Amino acid sequence: MAKAKAAPTKARSTQLETRIGFGWDSHAFKPGIPLLIGGIQLAYDKGLGGHSDGDVLLHAITDALLGSIAGPDIGTLFPPSDPQWKGADSVIFLQEALKRVAAAGYTVANLDSTLILNAPKIGPHAAAIRTRVAGLLGIPEDCVGLKAKTPEGLNTDNAAVAHVVVLLQESKKKTAR
Ligand code: MG
Repeated sequence: MAKAKAAPTKARSTQLETRIGFGWDSHAFKPGIPLLIGGIQLAYDKGLGGHSDGDVLLHAITDALLGSIAGPDIGTLFPPSDPQWKGADSVIFLQEALKRVAAAGYTVANLDSTLILNAPKIGPHAAAIRTRVAGLLGIPEDCVGLKAKTPEGLNTDNAAVAHVVVLLQESKKKTAR
């Protein structure tokens, strides 16, 4: 009987040159609070509720980044039960995720996102959101995809949902041999 092959000395995942991450989030609209999407404040009579500033897109991006390096999720790092995150700027969450991505030896290659909400219309703000997200991630604007859909048949007109995928590539420092 043939002997079983010895286990490889290195886990295969450490040899991958790219990684993919997926993030998803939803928040309900509440009257009388600012609406933040992608780090931009949009003029609207309702905002997204939540323990932090409710930025559904930045939360989904943060989780996509953390997922890409198999890290802890946003709720584990920044628990809603912790009063220090009450009303927090979600850019803080994103920056922590980016720090972890860099520490793991990766940079962001590109990102794609889909927002699902009935109102307000995202189209007029899409360029500003893409510019802001690209700036936060340190990548060109043409590496940030943003699409908006209305929730046809989903009965979620009082909520905003975000789906995000990110692709990471090994940073030059790590790949240099
Ligand atoms: Mg959230």
